[in-house]
Amino acid sequence: MTLVGILGAGQLGRMLALAGYPLGLRFRLLDPAPDAPAGHMAEQVAAGYDDAAALARFAEGLHAITYEFENVPVAAARQLERRAPVYPPPLALELAQDRLAEKRFFRDLGVGTPPFAQVDSRDDLAAALARIGLPAVLKTRRLGYDGKGQLVLRSRADVEPAWAALGGAPLILEGFVPFERELSILAARGRDGRTACYPLIENHHRDGMLRLSLAPAPGLTPALQAAAERIVTLALDALGYVGVLAIELFQIGGLGTWDGGLADQPPSPKPQAPSLMVNEMAPRVHNSGHWTIEGAETSQFEQHLRAILGLPLGSAAPRGCSAMVNLIGALPEPAAVLAVPGAHLHLYGKAPRAGRKLGHITIRADAPPQLAERLAQVQRLLPAS
Ligand code: AMP
Repeated sequence: MTLVGILGAGQLGRMLALAGYPLGLRFRLLDPAPDAPAGHMAEQVAAGYDDAAALARFAEGLHAITYEFENVPVAAARQLERRAPVYPPPLALELAQDRLAEKRFFRDLGVGTPPFAQVDSRDDLAAALARIGLPAVLKTRRLGYDGKGQLVLRSRADVEPAWAALGGAPLILEGFVPFERELSILAARGRDGRTACYPLIENHHRDGMLRLSLAPAPGLTPALQAAAERIVTLALDALGYVGVLAIELFQIGGLGTWDGGLADQPPSPKPQAPSLMVNEMAPRVHNSGHWTIEGAETSQFEQHLRAILGLPLGSAAPRGCSAMVNLIGALPEPAAVLAVPGAHLHLYGKAPRAGRKLGHITIRADAPPQLAERLAQVQRLLPAS
């Protein structure tokens, strides 16, 4: 029996385990929270990631180790590498934990990023502003997520308050990108170096949190998909990556019309050619890929497990079109959701709390107009959050 270790027992760990059971896999989790969402689905070592004795107990007999959130200490991942293969490689974890290292990595690959500068002092900030200009975004390099640890500087008047709030920590200043929309590309790379890319996903955020994903991204053209696949493949190969990688992108210009990504010709009216810039990467399964459970031939969770275990990757082709709605803070009536055709409810077993991701709904349809109608039905059922 193959035993897989997962660092983290949140909802991503839970969905990894759910995808792994049909393959005959077993799981062991390491997470400090005793009531973590995946905790009652598999054996859990409830301890901190820097607890050497707990890491040793966790690693006992594991065939492969992975992680489900990116703030796992890199030192712990490297320590575990001596016990069993750790995928994705800890180098990816290290880059994803530092926005500056991450942006340099993509720049060095020749991939577009917002203009950026390292900011460790007030003088650095002045120099960075002189080079990049306003508007700009000042971000902490580490431990930022869901829009936390960052402030938009629209005018000179925003500079001092932003410095007062964030100054002292290692920072990065980025040019503010007037993007058309936010997209993500998810891809997997197997131990044999083969890759499989999902269609681009369109993401909508509010208050820094993902609310809605549409897949394939409306108006997706083969050229845009190819541009995103080029970016993710460069990153996967450069890192010798194994597992699922998500890259969040900004699309600049060229917004097409909704065609569910199924058109093999450019949308009309003909848009200006779009370009893509990398915002950040997540070396793990990703919230914007939850639709793949019902909406793709192989879910991102199964794909990740296949990759890290050296199994053949599955097809990443979509089944029709999908929308994924995050359930944040409060839950709708489950029976009402399940009454909507094509709707699939996923609850993570977490106690409701403002701003907390409690679950998601995937809505699947054969064609975009049907999807739009079903999505509207689901959205009417959502409590205000
Ligand atoms: P992040 O935590 O870096 O993913 O940023 C959270 C959100 O802030 C993104 O999803 C964007 O909507 C916005 N954002 C981040 N960086 C930039 C940027 N350089 N220009 C414009 N918007 C940004």
